[in-house]
Amino acid sequence: MQVFKFGGASVKDADAVRNVAELIRNKGSKDVLVVVSAMGKNTNLLEALVESYLKGEEYQNVLNEFASFHRQIIRDLIGGEDQGYYEVENLLIELECALDGDLVNRSYDFVYDQIVPYGELISTRIVSHYLNSAGINNRWLDARNFIYTTSDHRRARVDWSVTDDLISKKARRLVEKQLTITQGFIGRTSGNAMTTLGREGSDYTAAIFAYGLNADSVTIWKDVPGVMNGDPKRIPDAVLLPEISFKEAIELAYYGASVIHPKTIQPLMRKGIPLYVKSFVNPDAPGTHVADHDRQEVIEVPCYIVKDNQILLSLSSKDFSFIVEDNLGHIFNALATCGIQVNVMQNTAISFSICANNDGRRINRFLEMIGDDYLVENQTSLVLLTVFNINEETNLNRLIETREQLLEHKTGNALQLVLK
Ligand code: ASP
Ligand code: MG
Repeated sequence: MQVFKFGGASVKDADAVRNVAELIRNKGSKDVLVVVSAMGKNTNLLEALVESYLKGEEYQNVLNEFASFHRQIIRDLIGGEDQGYYEVENLLIELECALDGDLVNRSYDFVYDQIVPYGELISTRIVSHYLNSAGINNRWLDARNFIYTTSDHRRARVDWSVTDDLISKKARRLVEKQLTITQGFIGRTSGNAMTTLGREGSDYTAAIFAYGLNADSVTIWKDVPGVMNGDPKRIPDAVLLPEISFKEAIELAYYGASVIHPKTIQPLMRKGIPLYVKSFVNPDAPGTHVADHDRQEVIEVPCYIVKDNQILLSLSSKDFSFIVEDNLGHIFNALATCGIQVNVMQNTAISFSICANNDGRRINRFLEMIGDDYLVENQTSLVLLTVFNINEETNLNRLIETREQLLEHKTGNALQLVLK
């Protein structure tokens, strides 16, 4: 059994969806589960919709843009308005009804999770319907019936025992019968509210299903040749990493290499399920093979990871106390409550610095929580550069350029620099 994952870029327009169909036709659809994300940039569009909706601003234009995008794609694919078109239309009506209901009074994170999943619900309807019309018989599966999570909206954690049980017993039987298409990124609570697993979470969905299905492999189909030692948009001479170990993949993803969602690897590693990262443009190229390779460390070149939109918070206590256990406990507790992902931290006797993704809502909440006890200085619009496997060839200057270096942190073979 195999799990394929197709992200937003692989289904960004009608031609892209046709390419996915050809790929599945050529690779074979027996014993395959396909996980699909929202099309193109539609998750961003739905985020903008939630934002306007909760601010009480006009949101009809964004909603119309979202609806027309999908109506157009399905018309292009089917050449008219058939039953599949009306299935999409029904989902659009459902979305509109959700907005007309009493969501306005709920928290941002909750509302987000009741709205943003429509990107995946609709994209999978379209892909499934088109594949059937192209003679690739398949069944649409509702991922929410299998992936049960906590109610930590927008960063829900999987309830592994329920989820594993449902996937291994029920989803497996369905996938054995027929090619199955499902949504990435989404789940539900035991109380039936929709949840999401964090941005770019569809890779993680593929791993969750693969774990429960005891799959033979997972393939993530991307618009790049595989996992590279740097983002080719920034590192022009980036090279493909043909083989990496699970541990290396975890590190790369954790430090922000956007090619694999960080939570994806551990479930696969636990069961020794290999992961392939391949190009949907060139599906026969070998790509990257992530597995328990004989040598633990297989990457031989330096790897560069650049993360934008970072904030550096420097905390010192208002009562002149040292930053020791008590204070750290308090700070970490607030970070966890607010769901802030810390990318680098450093402490001295009297201050504590945190470099994190600058998620405005979460950071503001954190500042409110600790503001009574700490003085906080912050700098925004920073860049975090992480380099692994530094050697003589490592050229940091071209990435640092004229930027000021605010913090440097070295662990094992990783060097992290926070740059202004
Ligand atoms: N559509 C979601 C996002 O853009 C999930 C994913 O693409 O993996 O974040
Ligand atoms: Mg996406």
